[in-house]
Amino acid sequence: MELIKTEMTPKERLTLYGKGKEVDRIPTTLSAGETIPVLYGISIHDYYFSADLMVEVESRMAEDFGADNMGMGLGLRTVAEAIGTKMHYSSDSVAYIEDPVIKNYSQIDNMDIINIKKDGRIPIMIEAFKRLKDKYDKERIIGTGMAGPLTTACALVGTDKFLKDCIKKPDEIKKLMEYSTECIIACGRDIYNEVGITSSLSEPIASANLISKKQFERWAKPYIKKVVDEWNKFQNAPSIHICGKTNDRWDDVIETGISGFWVDNCESLKELKTRLGDKISISGNVAPVDILRNGTPEMIENEIFNCIKQASDSPKGFGLCPGCTTPVGTPKENIIAFMNAAYKYGKGAKKGHMCKGIEKFL
Ligand SMILES: [Zn+2]
Repeated sequence: MELIKTEMTPKERLTLYGKGKEVDRIPTTLSAGETIPVLYGISIHDYYFSADLMVEVESRMAEDFGADNMGMGLGLRTVAEAIGTKMHYSSDSVAYIEDPVIKNYSQIDNMDIINIKKDGRIPIMIEAFKRLKDKYDKERIIGTGMAGPLTTACALVGTDKFLKDCIKKPDEIKKLMEYSTECIIACGRDIYNEVGITSSLSEPIASANLISKKQFERWAKPYIKKVVDEWNKFQNAPSIHICGKTNDRWDDVIETGISGFWVDNCESLKELKTRLGDKISISGNVAPVDILRNGTPEMIENEIFNCIKQASDSPKGFGLCPGCTTPVGTPKENIIAFMNAAYKYGKGAKKGHMCKGIEKFL
């Protein structure tokens, strides 16, 4: 399958769409990056430690798929690793936590706020961002994303311990959350100052699959709001992704001040549009494993049809993307099928209006 060429550059498309103008295709992003190197025969381990390989993967993805986003995400653990959590790396799967840095909450008193110029892999990523900016600034908006304060706190202490201690040791957890929040604020701000790119947030631990609404209100909401408020001083309010079930806390999510919400495929885009679409932009939510990786091109096309039908007329805008990270092992043909279906049904996109491409099929 050949990728259909589009008329606008991603930068033109996103800028005009943001201003409420009609664009050639609905903004379409691939939440890929650390999961994609294997597609190009590159070891994920090598990719994590090489600015050359990061630039190569981003460039090849841009060429092969033409999605609207560019830029490696810091993912769920890069900040925690920079602070001291030990990661395990392998060549064919994404890194995972081997040993959380905080064993005892008194350690926090002596821990420094993150330094992006020397901690962990962040300096390598900064170098790659600079090169991507030099190469693509004219046609693309380069960005990044990172775990929010709650997910980062869990990566610093271990998720099981966090979930136990937020009941047994709330004072210590409060101290941890404040520290984690300061590091996220600093990381986004300093990356912006260093390379001029903005960040979004991911909070998989804030899902209803892992914490109650009450816990969300206590341990996620105020800290996300703090990051949003601080980042707002130099960039637009970030968007957020939360995995899994979230619909019991959508009103809380809105109150953090975020500008966009990317939902998991287990949630309804239609319901999201009805409840939040007049307040923030929404995005989602092709099933990443069952459809994008394991599905046929026809299944992918059907799913995209449904997403665009349900949400492309959302008043504050819609972005088409998988419901979570593009999984390792997703075939190239499936990603091309995804992009081509986005173009077929998402042609003639304008905020608050059904895409022209889908109208004749309705
Ligand atoms: Zn997710």
